[in-house]
Amino acid sequence: MKRKKNGFTFFGGALFFITISIVVAIGVLFYDLIVKRTNGNKGITVLVMFLTILFLSVVCTVIDLFRRRQMVDKPVEQILSATEKIAAGDFSVRLQQRHGYREYDEYDWIMENLNTMTEALGKSEMLKTDFISNVSHELKTPLAVIKSYATLLKREKDEKQRKEYADILIKAAERLSDLVSNILKLSKLENDKIPAEKEKVRLDESISLAVIGLENKIEEKNLNVQCDLDEVSFFSVAGYLEIVWNNLLSNAVKFTDEGGMVEVSLKKEGKFAVVKVRDTGCGISPKTGSRIFDKFYQGDTSHAQEGNGLGLALVKKVIDLLGGEISVESEQGKGTTFTVILKE
Ligand code: ADP
Repeated sequence: MKRKKNGFTFFGGALFFITISIVVAIGVLFYDLIVKRTNGNKGITVLVMFLTILFLSVVCTVIDLFRRRQMVDKPVEQILSATEKIAAGDFSVRLQQRHGYREYDEYDWIMENLNTMTEALGKSEMLKTDFISNVSHELKTPLAVIKSYATLLKREKDEKQRKEYADILIKAAERLSDLVSNILKLSKLENDKIPAEKEKVRLDESISLAVIGLENKIEEKNLNVQCDLDEVSFFSVAGYLEIVWNNLLSNAVKFTDEGGMVEVSLKKEGKFAVVKVRDTGCGISPKTGSRIFDKFYQGDTSHAQEGNGLGLALVKKVIDLLGGEISVESEQGKGTTFTVILKE
């Protein structure tokens, strides 16, 4: 909401003026009446004048005190007690403005801004708590696997079985390492104050490198991968783009069944570069689709062992930093297409 600059409020000023005028008029009439009644006796006139001035001063002081109490002290007290609670970590505090939005005074604006601030602080506190509990949960699972399989490995004599346990241990360690490196990347992206420097990047080459990095998995699942990449040089951040391609492509491979297809295309459209990653995998339900970019969200639990739900959160962060756009179209059981639009 945009704040209007508050000037002199006509109604408040007029009310104060009328009140003071009435008080002064009563004082003067009272003085005149007494002077007439005493036939202009000098001593009494001076005394009455003194008493009238005293009366006017007392009444004006009381009016001013009442006005101050209502218009200044009360809202200041409210604001002070709210800020004390906020300082003590209570972000549920909300202040009730005293006027309707159109008549807001400065105190109402301070209250409005405090409400917005505490709401934002409350949200970020909740996100922090959620983040910590998610990280702890994601750490616990592979650690529990490592602990139990290391114990089994210690006792096991059979060489073949020992090798199997060792493979499980390696996978759990890799999962831990992926989790930690994704958390570090995300925190770096979120906290870096200096924007990364852009350089000329061959987009087709950086996408091809990401496909090559997944060769083993593609072969394992016997996937048909089609690349239709125009030669595109683009001003961007190579390290950021690597994160985007790796995550989108590894998801396409992960969520597509054996023998399925993954297509990647790159086109230059005016000032934009458009990349599409399409797969013939399990697809995403509308309910899952609305949350896929949230940190730690995993829609398909059957693949939960192979990820940590941070991939698309990282992709979204990077695309936002690059000033691009990402969208997803999907049909359950048929496949998914992610479209990335980059702007130079
Ligand atoms: P992760 O892959 O580690 O689970 P992501 O953040 O990369 O985490 O993805 C979040 C969720 O989005 C996945 O758990 C999955 O449900 C859904 N998803 C992402 N890409 C695809 C895809 N290509 N096909 C189907 N579902 C997908």
